[in-house]
Amino acid sequence: MKRGSKGQASIDMFLKKKQKSGEDEKGADTSQPDAETAESYSIVSTTLLTQPMTTDAARGYVKESTGGRKFQEKWSKEFTWVQYDPEKDAMTCSVCSWALANNRVRPGVKNILDGQEKKWIEGFNSWRKGMYAIQKHNESSHHNECLSAKLNEDGSQDMINTICRKSVKSKEENRRGLKAIFDAVLYLARQGQSLRGHTEEESNFKQLLKFCSKYNQEIKGWINRPSKFKWIVPEIQNEILNQSCHEILRNLVKKIHKSKWYSVIADETADISRKEQLSICLHHVDDSLLVHEDFIGFYSVETTTALNIFNTIQQALLSLNIDIQMCRGQSYDGAANMRGHISGVQKRFTEINPLATYVYCAGHQINLVVQECFSQNHHAVTALEVLSCVVNFIKGSPKRFSDFSKINDDATKAKSHAAACTAAYRVTAVTSQLG
Ligand SMILES: [Zn+2]
Repeated sequence: MKRGSKGQASIDMFLKKKQKSGEDEKGADTSQPDAETAESYSIVSTTLLTQPMTTDAARGYVKESTGGRKFQEKWSKEFTWVQYDPEKDAMTCSVCSWALANNRVRPGVKNILDGQEKKWIEGFNSWRKGMYAIQKHNESSHHNECLSAKLNEDGSQDMINTICRKSVKSKEENRRGLKAIFDAVLYLARQGQSLRGHTEEESNFKQLLKFCSKYNQEIKGWINRPSKFKWIVPEIQNEILNQSCHEILRNLVKKIHKSKWYSVIADETADISRKEQLSICLHHVDDSLLVHEDFIGFYSVETTTALNIFNTIQQALLSLNIDIQMCRGQSYDGAANMRGHISGVQKRFTEINPLATYVYCAGHQINLVVQECFSQNHHAVTALEVLSCVVNFIKGSPKRFSDFSKINDDATKAKSHAAACTAAYRVTAVTSQLG
């Protein structure tokens, strides 16, 4: 920044006066400034308040105005392209400056001086945003264009090697950090544990990473790194879960494609939030004649009409790139919307693919058979009703449940060899204890 010529003249005049005053201070009475000196004071004061300063003393004043922040040497050690210019009191990018000076940037990015990154050519001194701005520029497309040009240029091999080493090291660190995060997310998902907690700090995910960091310095370094790019926010966790889910489905689909033929098993029920969910499983046999029954997901359905459920199954198969014509079987419960021979799901399916034979689900059938058998046996019905009443009675009070647990422990110790008979014993014991 340049000082105005009037301001420069005024400061020079002031300094000259001051020097003269110092030389004459022994002989002359300087307690009262003369008119010229007073005018110089006035001009200098005005100048200091209105004109920017560039001397070393003035630079101290500028630092004070930016909150006392200044350039930090560790920035240039971590990012070798960062150069500090003491004259400008600003940092620049040596790679981008070199590329611009040597006309080594592509025509599309040649107008760097009009773009957001021009500050790295002219000088950047917003020290408050120092590290953040450096990281942002390091990842910018323009900087990487210039870096590629630099790498292709002969000479300055040491600098290129340094940049490459830094880049490779940084990539390796990022990969290891991301792998630890993937492992933590997959571990919690595998164990059916929630990732989040009441606060992000108290979440299972964050606490698991902290636990691992006790025994692994790399993970510790990663979660304590100053950068805000740690990939541990909930959005990233969801992204990892989604990608993992897609990967699992891709592997399943590969196996089904290899098996060629498959059958569909579907059933719908309401979840805890009272939304209807359709569960779909695919059944196939591999080369070793082993039977596989793979769950491919829950699909939300607004209504349980046959048309809606059939469309959902068809859409699910389509999204997985599984040919509906390769289906050789379908199995549902006995509800009219699924089993109906006029407009049920199985009928709509066979209209498209007649080879998809419908089979009444054996699991549902055995359930109905057991239910019917018990309903015909009065002793069994009475025993189950009494047992149901006792269970409700005990669960209705924490004190009763505590007493029951104590009796249960004693009974288990005493009757460990007769586990099948303990149910009747417990009923007798608890009824006699409770009167
Ligand atoms: Zn750059």
